[in-house]
Amino acid sequence: MSSHSRVLVVGGVAAGMSAASQVKRRKPNVEVVVFERGPYISYGACGMPYNIEDEARELEDLVVLTPERARNDRGIDVRLRHEAVGLDLDSRMLLVKNLETGDQTEELFDALVLATGASAIRLPLRGMDLPGVVILRELTDGALLKRLLEHEPKRAIVLGAGYVSMEMCHVLTERGLKVQILKKRPRVLRGWAEETVALVVEELQKHGVEIHTGMNITGAEAGADGNVAAVTTDQGPYPTDLVLQAVGVRPNVKLALEAGLRIGETGAIWVNQYQQTSHPSVWAAGDCAEAYHRVLRKNAWIPLGTTANKQGRIAGANIAGAATKFAGMAGTSGFVVFDLEVARSGISSEQAVAEGFEPTSVTIRQRSRAHGYPGGTPIQVTLIADVPSGLLLGGEVVGQEGAALRANVLATALASHMSVSELQGLDLAYAPPFAPVWDPLLVAANQLAKKVQAQEIKP
Ligand SMILES: Cc1cc2nc3c(=O)[nH]c(=O)nc-3n(C[C@H](O)[C@H](O)[C@H](O)COP(=O)(O)OP(=O)(O)OC[C@H]3O[C@@H](n4cnc5c(N)ncnc54)[C@H](O)[C@@H]3O)c2cc1C
Repeated sequence: MSSHSRVLVVGGVAAGMSAASQVKRRKPNVEVVVFERGPYISYGACGMPYNIEDEARELEDLVVLTPERARNDRGIDVRLRHEAVGLDLDSRMLLVKNLETGDQTEELFDALVLATGASAIRLPLRGMDLPGVVILRELTDGALLKRLLEHEPKRAIVLGAGYVSMEMCHVLTERGLKVQILKKRPRVLRGWAEETVALVVEELQKHGVEIHTGMNITGAEAGADGNVAAVTTDQGPYPTDLVLQAVGVRPNVKLALEAGLRIGETGAIWVNQYQQTSHPSVWAAGDCAEAYHRVLRKNAWIPLGTTANKQGRIAGANIAGAATKFAGMAGTSGFVVFDLEVARSGISSEQAVAEGFEPTSVTIRQRSRAHGYPGGTPIQVTLIADVPSGLLLGGEVVGQEGAALRANVLATALASHMSVSELQGLDLAYAPPFAPVWDPLLVAANQLAKKVQAQEIKP
């Protein structure tokens, strides 16, 4: 693949900059150009909630690399405010529009990386474009929200109840707002175990966040000053000063779709484990692309920064001549809501059923420190296994200390397709200040092993 002398990258955040950097590191003489339609590259969107919580911190602290440093230190040609608007695979040509001047140029490539990411879904409802109705996806969204918070709004409504919503309920409450979640479906954190959800809901309520479900949201309306003043629903208006739409994201696949690249069943760009798309000169990585799932043993779409960085790096390495495979992800993720750490790895019972497994699960609670050692708080572990094979399928961990990173043990176990009895035998670290002699994960594994055995021998 050393014939690639001009590499173009569309999108300059986690996946795009990882790919560009990797190509340059391995092949310094290759020309690498990154087109980014926004005003920033290489920032940590994941850090936005915590940055917004702290009014003294600059949002730009989240920028890891400036275009100047990318150029001077890494030799990457970054073109900000340049949008890729067309792709011709036959002539290997990318049509790029300069958003400042409106000029369009035809850019030829030997290899192309699509790292166009995902966009926040905006509800197609009346009033959702009013001042004071925001999303949180790009750094510019975070900057707008931070500016709005300077006016000291008193109330916020959060639409949606995924992990970004949970983080933002916490952040907005810490910034002094009274927060309400409005939702049609009764369940927050769709896809997580009921037992995990119950603890998160308790934590939200303990900190004054109200959760209202079961209504149809019909839009938003303005007050006399033109700013948003209420979210309207079929059960009447909910007055507010700020609305955060956090109802999910969609992969940015327009360019790929129009060019005729294969789109996977998930709706994201299909890739193989080398991050190659259905065209041999085009790679895709990050939130716009599917990723191989270790538990499902097929492609899935779980847009996360950890995966974006890895996939970008692999795409870049392969363009530079390596033959590196993306080992796969297991949907390992987590968040913090007030005093709770919440994390998981693998698949849920619901998803396991949908995928044809025969799952069974246990939920246990165990203290985070040894008996007799002061302090310590409960850690709740839910583990899921497939009965016929005895394989671990996934798990969730919730607690105030030492909870989130325990999900990494599960991620490791899932990576080697461990059975529950193999998990039971793991030699996990023990010392009274940070774990009981039977780690909560091992207690859960012991109980799950018994349950799997009991169900296996049923006639
Ligand atoms: C609030 C928040 C919290 C998060 N927390 C976590 C977390 O704790 N852990 C975690 O793992 N993940 C987290 N994520 C997700 C993580 O940020 C994303 O998975 C990651 O940013 C994906 O990187 P990406 O490069 O694939 O895409 P993106 O970050 O979406 O970047 C894509 C870039 O491509 C540009 N682009 C798109 N189309 C074009 C075009 N046609 N021409 C030019 N440029 C284009 C866009 O402007 C954008 O800058 C969080 C995300 C948010 C918003």
